[in-house]
Amino acid sequence: MKANVRECLYCGLLNTQPPGDIADRHLEPLCVKCDSPLWGQSDGSTVTVDIAHQHETVPQALVKFSDALQRSWRYTHAEHLRLIVGGGLIRDAVLGELFFLQSKGTILDCIEENRGAVLVRIRAPLQ
Ligand SMILES: [Zn+2]
Repeated sequence: MKANVRECLYCGLLNTQPPGDIADRHLEPLCVKCDSPLWGQSDGSTVTVDIAHQHETVPQALVKFSDALQRSWRYTHAEHLRLIVGGGLIRDAVLGELFFLQSKGTILDCIEENRGAVLVRIRAPLQ
């Protein structure tokens, strides 16, 4: 799919809109046909990204985390982003960042699935 084309899950229209930053989600554009929010629509899927098992440093892992979050928002309709964080310093740094992002409303929710994985809700569940 082209980066500037966003399919509306409700009516199927292909909208030509540039993807925005997830931090600006309150400004997301609406479908020109049915007025649904184009980026807030969830298809119920989960995107899984490992940010901790290629000998990443903490700063490198945080860059991968930020990239995964933006890509999931801009180019998928996923409800959840699952981050494989390992059990060490990367996990602690990512959890701190997630709590900050949740306080700002950039993400909706996050839970630790187990010691090595965090499930981040970026979109509301299917209605
Ligand atoms: Zn629509």
